[in-house]
Amino acid sequence: MKIIVPVKRVIDYNVKPRVKSDGTGVDLANVKMSMNPFDEIAVEEAIRLREKGVATEIIAVSVGPQKAQETLRTALAMGADRAILVMTDDEVEPLAIAKILKAICEEEAPGLVILGKQAIDDDSNQTGQMLAALMGRPQGTFASAVVVEGDSVTVTREVDGGSETVKLALPAIVTTDLRLNEPRYASLPNIMKAKSKPMATKSPADYGVDTAPRLKTLKVSEPPVRVAGIKVADVDALVAKLKDLGVA
Ligand code: AMP
Repeated sequence: MKIIVPVKRVIDYNVKPRVKSDGTGVDLANVKMSMNPFDEIAVEEAIRLREKGVATEIIAVSVGPQKAQETLRTALAMGADRAILVMTDDEVEPLAIAKILKAICEEEAPGLVILGKQAIDDDSNQTGQMLAALMGRPQGTFASAVVVEGDSVTVTREVDGGSETVKLALPAIVTTDLRLNEPRYASLPNIMKAKSKPMATKSPADYGVDTAPRLKTLKVSEPPVRVAGIKVADVDALVAKLKDLGVA
């Protein structure tokens, strides 16, 4: 069984984003970029399934600029077998990403597509669900456990106040939550090996997908600055202060 893992190049999760002075977006100039953390978890899960003998081949896919090659090389160094870069300098919205992934799935016929539950830059949390809908395949989102048995996959999902377990017929779409696993670091030999693994370069047009945006960003702004806290002497002073502020 093949597994496709879509990986997005995003602003590194340790970087504090700066909003551009004209409010049109986040300033990405000279900012460290990395693989979306949920996608690292997806790559790790695919590798574990291959180690268990469930998967035979892992294909990492990224839609993005030429530099997204680095993200794909990271996936290859972790253990993916080959990569597809769908190169574009446009900002591509989840629906177009899902359409591109659908076209790739039609060519590759994977048993599973494992995506992150969301990309930490736009926080859309849409691509996996849209892909499942476009393909008419079952989806197990926010997975904290994935077990493949025969022609089905059992997914434990993180839901409000607990977990839910669903059984899906393969082929299926799974999206990862934080507790699914702890991704491995690529070893130096594997980083070297990744350089010679195959990477195909395509364009959205190769898949017949128009990436023109359907949304218009009106404004991006910093969150309001938090006002400094104050210290009070005791509980009575705290209650008095809260009453003063009209919150008690
Ligand atoms: P989103 O719906 O944008 O929050 O993204 C959810 C997941 O879809 C991500 O964790 C990735 O697995 C996948 N994805 C989104 N954008 C891209 C992209 N440009 N290239 C590859 N995968 C993507």
